[in-house]
Amino acid sequence: MSETTVKFLKSNYALNVLNSSHPIAVHNGHKYRWKANNKQTTRYVCTDSTCYASLTLNGDQVIKSRGKHMHETITDSQLLILEATQDLTSEFLENNSKSLSQCFKDFEGKLIEHGIEERIIAAKVTTFKRICPALTKIRSKNETKEPTDYSKLDIIGEYAVTVKNEPFMRYDNKSANARIILIR
Ligand SMILES: [Zn+2]
Repeated sequence: MSETTVKFLKSNYALNVLNSSHPIAVHNGHKYRWKANNKQTTRYVCTDSTCYASLTLNGDQVIKSRGKHMHETITDSQLLILEATQDLTSEFLENNSKSLSQCFKDFEGKLIEHGIEERIIAAKVTTFKRICPALTKIRSKNETKEPTDYSKLDIIGEYAVTVKNEPFMRYDNKSANARIILIR
């Protein structure tokens, strides 16, 4: 029985860090990547580069399926790992307050919960750690936007004292358009 819809995985980041943010579509145990947008439909092709199978989609509905896959389908646990990997990536990129180690912990927890072998999880984590520098770069790019509203700038704590721990802030009127800060 052929499925009439595809399942989209969050994003393509982990598979192809810098190239594409189109989601991967999964249909009958095969993975497809975005190829082109037509008027009403989208064309997806098999992620296996030697395979010519393709799908025409309208949203997640399969309009047409062409070609035969001459290779194996992915197993449920492979799909689960793939999904968890996508989650890990997008969580790390979208949630700036979440540390990488926290993301890893959630990733491992989710897979252990589904009975995936620990050595497989460990191998995945190792693979993932290799693309971390690239991900960290993307995340920090999203993060470092110049503040536009200086009224929210608060000089407190360690920023308000000198290295000798003497207070160095003398005055701050905290005005949004005419901020006056006196330091000594
Ligand atoms: Zn294929």
